[in-house]
Amino acid sequence: KKFNIAIDGPAGAGKSTIARLVAERLGFIYVDTGAMYRAVTWKILRTDTSLEQDDQMIRLVQHTDIQLLPGEKGQLVYVDGDDVTLNIRYPEVTSNVSRVASVAEIRKILVAKQKEMAASKGVVMDGRDIGSTVLPDAEVKVFLTASVRVRADRRFKELQAAGQADGITLERLEADIAARDKMDQERETSPLVRAEGAVLLDTTEMSIPEVVESILSLCRE
Ligand code: C5P
Repeated sequence: KKFNIAIDGPAGAGKSTIARLVAERLGFIYVDTGAMYRAVTWKILRTDTSLEQDDQMIRLVQHTDIQLLPGEKGQLVYVDGDDVTLNIRYPEVTSNVSRVASVAEIRKILVAKQKEMAASKGVVMDGRDIGSTVLPDAEVKVFLTASVRVRADRRFKELQAAGQADGITLERLEADIAARDKMDQERETSPLVRAEGAVLLDTTEMSIPEVVESILSLCRE
């Protein structure tokens, strides 16, 4: 039986790892909506479009083709036909994405695409406004969180494993994550909040398999 699962939460809570594993177990499609906001932010930076000019950013997004495709090591992201899977994780993208995501008209364009992707049931979608705005009728809604310290720590270990932790400190990561949370929670359009009916899962002291199992058991209810 197919249904939709919405997973929301702050930066670094492990949403994409968890959502991907849950999708794998159920044979559902996994959609990382943060990657879409990152993809348009990457194109805005690459084309030297001003982050101060909403109308210019909006026009650019209207003329951008974003494709999310399943790959062997996770979701692949294409912008206008180019593979930008790695580019959208650059620190310049990460530090500017909340600004881009605060533009209501840009959100409208991406939310419409996301609703389309979930039209044929059987998606696990992660983001900030999935349970509240994109899929308010999702059968299962989860709000995934963890302490800022633990989220920074997990991100740090990920960067170390990827050999990208040079010059990065845990303190800086913690400050970056806290700043992004603040922007995502305080913006006017679709701020990050726990949606009505979303089950709160604090993963500070949980392992990845434990979190996956809790979500799968919510699906059996
Ligand atoms: O999930 P990730 O951390 O990659 O998301 C990057 C940024 O995209 C978030 O900090 C947020 O500003 C924005 N975003 C959003 N709504 C979503 C997904 C992501 O505003 N549904």
